[in-house]
Amino acid sequence: MADQYGHFIAGRAVPGDSGRFGDVFNPSLGEVKARVALASSAEVDRAVQAAAAAQPDWAAVNPQRRARVMFQFKALVEANMDELARLLSEEHGKVVADAKGDLQRGLEVIEFACGIPHLLKGEYTEGAGPRIDVYSMRQPLGVAAGITPFNFPAMIPMWMFGIAVACGNSFVLKPSEKDPGVPLRLAELFLEAGGPEGVLNVVNGDKEAVDAILTHPGISAVSFVGSSDIAQYVYATGTAHGKRVQAMGGAKNHGIVLPDADLDQAVSDIVGAAYGSAGERCMALPVAVAVGDGTADRLIERLVPEVEKLKVGISTDPDAHYGPVVTAAHRERIERYIQMGVDEGAELVMDGRGFELQGYEQGFFIGPSLFDRVTPDMETYRDEIFGPVLQVMRADTVEEAVRLPSQHQYGNGVAIFTRNGQAAREFAKRVNVGMVGINVPIPVPVAYHTFGGWKRSAFGDTNQHGTEGIRFYTHVKTVTQRWPEGQEPEQSFIIPTMQ
Ligand code: NAD
Repeated sequence: MADQYGHFIAGRAVPGDSGRFGDVFNPSLGEVKARVALASSAEVDRAVQAAAAAQPDWAAVNPQRRARVMFQFKALVEANMDELARLLSEEHGKVVADAKGDLQRGLEVIEFACGIPHLLKGEYTEGAGPRIDVYSMRQPLGVAAGITPFNFPAMIPMWMFGIAVACGNSFVLKPSEKDPGVPLRLAELFLEAGGPEGVLNVVNGDKEAVDAILTHPGISAVSFVGSSDIAQYVYATGTAHGKRVQAMGGAKNHGIVLPDADLDQAVSDIVGAAYGSAGERCMALPVAVAVGDGTADRLIERLVPEVEKLKVGISTDPDAHYGPVVTAAHRERIERYIQMGVDEGAELVMDGRGFELQGYEQGFFIGPSLFDRVTPDMETYRDEIFGPVLQVMRADTVEEAVRLPSQHQYGNGVAIFTRNGQAAREFAKRVNVGMVGINVPIPVPVAYHTFGGWKRSAFGDTNQHGTEGIRFYTHVKTVTQRWPEGQEPEQSFIIPTMQ
């Protein structure tokens, strides 16, 4: 196992020469497992130069052959699934089965990208005017870059480079410095799959590398996923430097429980979605809104024994429901929010603070917490906690329940639990949130649809993957052609129209 991570530039692992490093932890053990080089702007520039040099030849490869590289890449990731999942789980802390889910959701985007010959087909109008035909084509942008968060170190990089390179771009990935092992392995596997040197590059780093990407004149588009303040900064800075930018941010997803819901199923779904991956998912369900006091009491009554059953363990424990959080600092932040909830007057039904796993006392573990009677004025409700903390709210009416997610600063996902089709349909239509689940707790759209939230959950106007992804990584060129048939030369000083 590497004890020092560098970068992957022009098809080669390079050690990094900035002299700056970050720590990569094994959160289950609470120990530093490796150092990661933090790139200088000169190193980012080297990656961009390598990407720019490789891009024209890659774009000239016909789309079917690019698709074959994607097919081969998918096969290699599958062949290395166990090793990748273990590495991911070791650095992130999510349990191995969940790490496989992270890889699999990324592979589903690669499968979508395998259809690139079809997806890049343009449009054609024959006879748009006398002897005039018009056609449009989608062409790659050049060099694109991706900046990704720690919580999905496989899926989110694949959301981005999977589509970008299939479209004929080259790519510079700046993954989270907290778990860089899997992104580096993915770049190696892409090379092994036949991806040319320089088409997929990885630079590790922090703000310095991000700023170098956002201001680099050689980069045409930047895709970002992370927390909202940084997303807004990336969007503002990248667009100010003339780049196309999509920047996905944080979330606070609500699960609305109507009185007619199948409560056993809803409780099971909410517990899985609130505490899975220690709550470190942008599509986690950290808020349950019970409609009607009777529903809330029944919900809490059933939640408590289910939450008590949760097993917190090291990430390689096959019986653990969730593992440690990513760093000690993140655990402290979650614990501060729990205290804040108490101070704000919410009822702490279960307190996960102070949890220690026997034999792993240094690990960054935190037990599950459950709050009841959380209200919209509380800071702990307004903010994203990003930990194993479920907040139950009580709404008197469906109207009030719809207002809560609709008026929240974040608008990533929302779910409703009900047996009433009409209520669900109305809810889906009216709620001011980008991704809606109806009796589906984590409504992450499949790869051929698109992923994206509203309000402070996303800046920019194209989503990740699906046809929106193809649009983001290409620009349209429209050609109007006329082939004369031996007539006298024509001249006009009037704007051409189709009269
Ligand atoms: P983060 O914002 O701390 O980091 C994301 C990326 O930004 C990393 O690559 C990091 O190196 C970089 N970065 C950090 N600070 C920076 C700064 N000051 N200037 C420039 N770049 C900086 O996010 P995280 O903690 O890695 O990930 C968790 C967050 O990501 C949560 O808010 C979660 O909701 C969000 N997220 C959103 C989605 C989505 O699709 N909406 C998906 C996954 C995660």
